Amino acid sequence: MSESLTDPGPSTPDDADWTWVLSSPCPDCGFDAAATAPGEVPAILRVAGQRYAAVLGRDDVRNRPAEGVWSPLEYACHVRDVCDVMRGRLEQILAGGGEVVRFANWDQDETAVERQYWRSDPGVVQGEVTSAFEAAATAYALPSGTQWEWPAVRSNGAEFTAATLSLYFVHDIRHHLWDVTA
Ligand SMILES: [Zn+2]
Repeated sequence: MSESLTDPGPSTPDDADWTWVLSSPCPDCGFDAAATAPGEVPAILRVAGQRYAAVLGRDDVRNRPAEGVWSPLEYACHVRDVCDVMRGRLEQILAGGGEVVRFANWDQDETAVERQYWRSDPGVVQGEVTSAFEAAATAYALPSGTQWEWPAVRSNGAEFTAATLSLYFVHDIRHHLWDVTA
């Protein structure tokens, strides 16, 4: 890690409520939740993990494309952490045995600043991304039958099931792939 790196400052926070992607195709990345089955999620995650690992080998990996927009490296750190959070949330649903579980709030922008995503070593993140996607893919292969309907509520009140959580999760992953490769 070079000591000459300068802190680019926080990115512009994304405060949008993205739950609409569960009912309409995303006009940006093209993901269509209605055309995706939760059973496809592990395979989608494994392919995406490989693509993020490839992005981390790019020469421009530290470059922010615009003021307030994460670099590919910062996006890769973000999706690594999204994989861990979403794996934890699914485990929480399954541990709930069908009772409604409540997710703790996760502030993605605060996490990016705290963990200093911009300072990360792309080679290290490559390994972490690969492990995080594999662990998430393994976890999302576990639910079966009615477990996909088991409920959860996010801290802002948004209601999920294991199935809608899985689709919300893979949209996030695919959308950021579009962010770094479009
Ligand atoms: Zn999208």
